[in-house]
Formats: sequence, C-alpha cells, structure tokens
Amino acid sequence: MNVFSVFSIKQLFLFLLFFSTPYFSFANKLPEHQKHWIPLLRFSNPYESCSGSQISTLRSVQNRIASRLSELKKNLGMDHMSYVKEHYLIPKNISESADKNQRYKQYLIRLQHTFAMMSDALSDQIHFHCKDSEQEKRCKNEEVSAYVLTYFGKTVPKIHLCSSLFKKNNSEMEETIFHELSHLAANTEDLIDWRSDIRQAPNDAFYIEKFMHKAVDSSSLQDIWHMNWIYKKY
Ligand SMILES: [Zn+2]
Repeated sequence: MNVFSVFSIKQLFLFLLFFSTPYFSFANKLPEHQKHWIPLLRFSNPYESCSGSQISTLRSVQNRIASRLSELKKNLGMDHMSYVKEHYLIPKNISESADKNQRYKQYLIRLQHTFAMMSDALSDQIHFHCKDSEQEKRCKNEEVSAYVLTYFGKTVPKIHLCSSLFKKNNSEMEETIFHELSHLAANTEDLIDWRSDIRQAPNDAFYIEKFMHKAVDSSSLQDIWHMNWIYKKY
C-alpha cells in the first residue's frame, strides 16, 4: 500500500519533523529505562497546571534537594566501612564476617547509585503536574500529597502533586519530593520489609526519603549496621 494513501504529505512531514529534531538535554539525561518516554515529554510544560507561587516553591525545593544530593555524594563514601568498624563493631565487640562486610559494601554502592541517578535526573528538568486534591481521585481527599504513575512496570517521568502538598512545611515537602524523585529516577519501590537483606534498602523509597534530612554518619548508619550485623529474621 502506498504510504501517501494512509498519511497526507503534511502529516508525514510533521511526523518526520517530530522524530528528527534533536533531543532536549533533559531527555538525554533520563535513565535508560525511561528513554521510551522522550517523545511524550518533548514539548510539555515542566510545571503543568502549577500556579506562579507553586512554581517558585517547587524551584526552591528542587534547589535544596540538589544541594543535599551533592552533599550525600561527597559524604557517603566507602570509608563508611571503616567508620562502622570503629564506631559500632569494635566497641560492641562484634566480630566481622567477610560475608556481612561484603553485603554492607554492596549496600553502599547501590545507595550511591540511587543518589547519582536522582541527581542526574534533577540536574536537568523534572516534570511536575499540579492537581487539585478535591478533584483528583488519586489525591484521596488530601491523604496523598504526591505520586508517580507506573505503566507496565515503568515509572512515567512526571511527579504529580496534589494541592495538599503545598500545605506541608518545607522539610515535609522536600522529603515527599525526594521520595517521588527516587521512584522516578531510580525506579525505587515502596518496600515493606528489607531487613533480612540490607542490599534491598537503596531500592526502598521510604528508606531513601530519610536521607533528605537525616545525618548520614549517625542514625542512618546505626540502623543499617544493626540490621546487617545483629538483626536476625526468625
Ligand atoms: Zn512511594
């Protein structure tokens, strides 16, 4: 069948133009598993249906998250293994085991990877869609403040924000966006229990969101060392 009998010349021209224009830089930085969304995001507004004040709030939240992620990149190094030994294992007289040490190192590598993906996604443009909590079913009448959508196991690279989000204080808002960003950029899940294997923790959005404000060298490490060296699943 002749292609011109299905599409008009104009339709064909627009189709070719759409798929041959250079990618925007944000699209190029999307993680591999999200590249198939590029054509859909190409011309969309990064702050869909958001008011001027919501946009300025979102910009400052993004700036604070970006600087937190660069802090985490610097502070969350492999030297944490020696920190754990010095602060937790030796004082508690807990013997090391090659297996547990190895598991801890893999946990750190995965955590660094999750933060790197979040930081890459943020360094360009994240797409937001502001919703009215009362009219949007998924906001569950203010119970939910933000969400991402998943189709066929893939997270759509857009964060949907319920109007209830903007009633939260700065720190809650930052944690919420940090959580959703981890879904979007690193395909994290909302896991219920990863305690038997700490290598699953970097894949849990609830675990990740705590890093927005938690001191990296104290409580978060304390939790994880306890799970790795002491916790037993009965
Ligand atoms: Zn979640």
